[in-house]
Amino acid sequence: MVTAVVTIAAFLIWILPARQGLLVTMEARPEGVMGTTTLLRVVVPIGGGATGRRALAAAEQALREVDWRMSTWVEITELSRFNAVGADEWVKLSPSTLAVLEVALEFAEATGGAFDPTCGPILEVWRRGEEEGAVPSEDLLAEAMGRSGWRRVRLSETSASKQVEGLRVDVGGIAKGWAVDRAVEAMQEAGVRGGLVQCGGDLRVFGESGQGREWRLGVRDPNRPEGSLLPDTLSIAEGAVSTSGNYERFYTIGGRRYSHIIDPRSGRPVDAVPQVTVVASESVVADGWSTALTVLGPDGLGLLPDGVEALMLVREGGAIVRQETPGFRISAR
Ligand code: AMP
Ligand code: MG
Repeated sequence: MVTAVVTIAAFLIWILPARQGLLVTMEARPEGVMGTTTLLRVVVPIGGGATGRRALAAAEQALREVDWRMSTWVEITELSRFNAVGADEWVKLSPSTLAVLEVALEFAEATGGAFDPTCGPILEVWRRGEEEGAVPSEDLLAEAMGRSGWRRVRLSETSASKQVEGLRVDVGGIAKGWAVDRAVEAMQEAGVRGGLVQCGGDLRVFGESGQGREWRLGVRDPNRPEGSLLPDTLSIAEGAVSTSGNYERFYTIGGRRYSHIIDPRSGRPVDAVPQVTVVASESVVADGWSTALTVLGPDGLGLLPDGVEALMLVREGGAIVRQETPGFRISAR
């Protein structure tokens, strides 16, 4: 069974910057954050060890805070409390949880509901299907779809409510990106020269790479998840990269793998897009679009706002073909 804590594979691999000049890099790999692997890296001048340690600790704290507020894997978080209440009850939420819900609903609007943070009941049905070893019936799916729908969530300045009994939110499609942005802010406030935050498939870099040039990132080959890279390297000076794929988290039913990303229109796991990589200035934007494009397929590329670029691998017949936006900058190694 797939649980948050056993998820281990990261989609993006950074290429080690060497020690260079008067800058040194420091890193931490906090465990048990958002059910995935995490890497924090800061670049400081020689003698800046205390600043580096402070930045790493603050970044870790920022990631953990998002987890304990918004995880739906444990019952004590704000979002789990929201999920447990009945229709039309207002639940007071922290400003950060409200902000994530607001961004999630904006994504739902921008993608015509392909991104839907209320797909919790549908995910639950597939999770149970995995436990019971059977693909969910049409009836179960229809019932779960009847309890979801992003237009049925209301937000006020301080609180949220649902308009249908049994609706559950799941912000797994953007929470990691949001958390990465908060961790980057924490590093910047601590005064480091550069940094990198990676949480599973979401990554953001800023400032000096410690290499004397842009940050260079590899994109994992979805056909060989053990670690080989596509023959491409992304070079970015500053910004975020997010990858959604169907091989990190999935449901296995009857020996077949089903993606953890659901098409809210059919209630079924997506199948046609094995991997999407999105580049944007903010991690939450890259994260939301990578999940949404997995549902929308190539038609979704036209919806991307300025400054957001994507590389998509699409199943076509028996082959997997690349589709990308013209501005997706990737250089051969
Ligand atoms: P990501 O790894 O960022 O692509 O997010 C995948 C996670 O988003 C899943 O594990 C679910 O928690 C959630 N999710 C699944 N389907 C959708 C969807 N259609 N819209 C928004 N979130 C989704
Ligand atoms: Mg995402």
